[in-house]
Amino acid sequence: MCAVVGVYNIEDASKIAYYSLFAMQHRGQEASGISSSNGHKIYTIKDRGLVSQIFDENILKKLTGKMAIGHNRYSTAGEDSILDAQPVFARYDLGEMAVVHNGNLTNNKEIRDELIESGAIFQSSMDTENLIHLIARCTKERLKDRIIDAIDKVKGAYSFIFLSRTKMFVMRDRYGFRPLSIAKLADGYVVASETCAFDLIGATFIRDVEPGEMLIFEDGNFETIQIYKSEPKKCIFEYVYFARPDSSVFGQSTYELRKEMGRVLARESTIDADLVIPVPDSGIAAALGYSEESKIPFELGIIRNHYVGRTFIEPTQAIRDIKVKMKLSPIKDLISGKKVVVIDDSIVRGTTSKKIVQMLKDAGAKEVHMKISSPPTSYPCFYGIDTPTKEELISNKYTLEEIREFIGADTLEYISLNGLLKSAGEQKSFCTTCFDGKYFV
Ligand code: AMP
Repeated sequence: MCAVVGVYNIEDASKIAYYSLFAMQHRGQEASGISSSNGHKIYTIKDRGLVSQIFDENILKKLTGKMAIGHNRYSTAGEDSILDAQPVFARYDLGEMAVVHNGNLTNNKEIRDELIESGAIFQSSMDTENLIHLIARCTKERLKDRIIDAIDKVKGAYSFIFLSRTKMFVMRDRYGFRPLSIAKLADGYVVASETCAFDLIGATFIRDVEPGEMLIFEDGNFETIQIYKSEPKKCIFEYVYFARPDSSVFGQSTYELRKEMGRVLARESTIDADLVIPVPDSGIAAALGYSEESKIPFELGIIRNHYVGRTFIEPTQAIRDIKVKMKLSPIKDLISGKKVVVIDDSIVRGTTSKKIVQMLKDAGAKEVHMKISSPPTSYPCFYGIDTPTKEELISNKYTLEEIREFIGADTLEYISLNGLLKSAGEQKSFCTTCFDGKYFV
């Protein structure tokens, strides 16, 4: 997952990067970092934690210059350590560079093994560090050509932003797995994983970076080169769960699409019930769509506490599910004696659904019908979404009936893959590997 941002030719670029990262905090909460350039030198500050915990006005003042790149980390490849925070900064024969990366390289191990055999040493376990080595070892004169050469060796999902002291380079993989958009702000440009970043900083959306396209920001403007041309494979899970509902992703409103998934789900699996309630916040838009289509009233039957803290007491019998209850709490008067449809976006390990069903039954629900606005997630993603191993994915191990039994619901239904694709408006250009296991890179 992760979020990336690039800011070009804007005063206090690091502040713009900060606000953009803040808007995209949902894409990664583990670590965050910004590199800036004032044309002579690149400065980098990164740490573990949330954007607002790492940066303040004084820290941002140290990140001078009119160019900046930034990153929020959600650990997929690599480990949870400060060494794995981005941007990755390096000095090499052409000077200085920093890079941020959203996605996951699938031939990481092969490339790293080759580099290590030929004497390279690594500081982190991140696939992104490979790129720096490939660029530094290339003998071409211009950074642009070195980036093109390096990119040609890596496979998988990437939205990269490179910063040199005077230029910024943006590259989206040929399939366009991860979203990446460009906007105009003052005399410059901002490139970000999600358009919700543009809304916060007041930038005007121009367009998405095309799959396989490279952008080179130089002399106040940008040029573009179409490096690869392939049939796109945009990640449909961005629509299902990952992107913020107020972002326009791959040219469509995430919120509207989620509502449509709910409508399709209702058409595919109608049931007689008194209420439709979402699992907050991930199921809200789909539950609204489900309610609209099924005419079953929508209610916010579960309330989410946004200030989730740490639990200090060992769960005993009496306070068994304190961790879940600290985050989610049912409105008993609403639920008691009712037949409820509960909507969530996905079931991964099954732990959330099991606890939600139990919570609703404890609150007196007569029947609990679980409906999921994506198909069973049966295959791990190697393209940048943090899904667990095959063995941990409940739908990989169990049948629908076994999952229903495990989560304790009266019925369980998922949207069909066809239905999901229909909600997204087209059939061809999406990556659906987590649902169908068809790996292609
Ligand atoms: P689980 O409890 O393991 O079945 O996870 C399902 C819950 O996690 C759902 O409520 C989803 O909204 C949410 N979810 C789905 N995918 C992810 C992900 N990659 N990272 C974090 N949460 C997720």
